[in-house]
Amino acid sequence: MDIRSRYGLRPVINASGTMTSLGASSVHAPVIEAVAEVLPQFVEIDDLQRKASAVIARACGSEAGYITASCSAGITLSIAATMTGDDLGLIERLPDTRGLRHEVVIQTGHLVNYGAPIDQAIRLAGARVVPVGAATEAHGYQLASAIGEHTTAALYVVSHHTVQYGMIPLEEFVAVAHAKGVPVIVDAASEYDLQRFIAAGADLALYSAHKFLGGLTAGIVAGRKALVRAAYFQNGGIGRGMKVGKEGIVGAMAALEQWQQRDHAEVRAREHAYLTFWRDALKRFAGVRAELDADPTGNPLERLKLQIDPREARTSAWDLADALARPPAGEAPVIVRDHEAEQHFFFVDPCNLHPGEEQVVLARLVAELERAQQAHEPRVTPFHQRDARRGATRRNWPD
Ligand SMILES: *Cc1c(COP(=O)(O)O)cnc(C)c1O
Repeated sequence: MDIRSRYGLRPVINASGTMTSLGASSVHAPVIEAVAEVLPQFVEIDDLQRKASAVIARACGSEAGYITASCSAGITLSIAATMTGDDLGLIERLPDTRGLRHEVVIQTGHLVNYGAPIDQAIRLAGARVVPVGAATEAHGYQLASAIGEHTTAALYVVSHHTVQYGMIPLEEFVAVAHAKGVPVIVDAASEYDLQRFIAAGADLALYSAHKFLGGLTAGIVAGRKALVRAAYFQNGGIGRGMKVGKEGIVGAMAALEQWQQRDHAEVRAREHAYLTFWRDALKRFAGVRAELDADPTGNPLERLKLQIDPREARTSAWDLADALARPPAGEAPVIVRDHEAEQHFFFVDPCNLHPGEEQVVLARLVAELERAQQAHEPRVTPFHQRDARRGATRRNWPD
């Protein structure tokens, strides 16, 4: 029996990508085996993290690395590391940063929310956020003039969440920060390329172990040895509440090793086949434009972009996404990637589907589009009510 029915959970189909709110990723069998093997055993965590450092160094091309609770924890603890170094007294004193360099420069267009605001991950360490540039435009000279005697770090975010144009390229960002003696931390939580950011000069690069890597929930901190050590030592301070267990560390190590062995071309070919299968089958629907769309940050993957014309389709992108997620009894809930639904499109992401689910995703899309065509009235709700409606559903949790 599926554990979800044992606990009365809906058997959702994830066509959204790798989402914390949906349980992150599908953990691969070799990772599950490695974790199961370590669970009943005792290990010396310092030593386990020492071995993890070697695995990370190999995978990321960095001097060292360690595993923490999440990429978000990695941000907080990396910033802390730049402020305290390996001074255990200062580490215990955080988030009191009196007398320490404590300002973190970050482009305004990088101040994202990945489930929580990134500026809060900075402030949690006791640091202060110094935004650089405007929402959609930043320049090297602005970064240079924002860096002063109190600057402790420069944070760079690589993500579909950030503004995708008008930002300072990483190479220039690194050059400007390094010219002022400021370390650069790259949040690359959801990036495929484990080496690019270290190779481009980042002092620390941060990844989620539970996104494309398919590990357990954890964060990977890779980079210069002294900074990695200082970040690791935060476990005796503010990092205690962000601790990772042996299962998360082994899970990340196994996922990194698996990643290097994965047949990426085969995965890509399978996903491409799902996308063209869906695109061709949806052609017959009026008001639906389906096309393949490349990942915005250059990860080697595509998604199906479904543009919905509410007049012709008789439903809107957001009403269709909501109907897919909340189907009539007996039909499978399908969660699509709809952060931009007010622009009349959403994405169908194949990266987390189990074999056969590509058929269910299509059947559900077809059923909902036909239902909309046959309904007496078009199903188009005002978009401005959607957020409030979703908030109301959640407000009384756990009821
Ligand atoms: C997912 C994500 C995070 C948070 O990662 P966790 O490991 O889930 O804490 C941070 N930054 C970006 C850009 C992300 O996409």
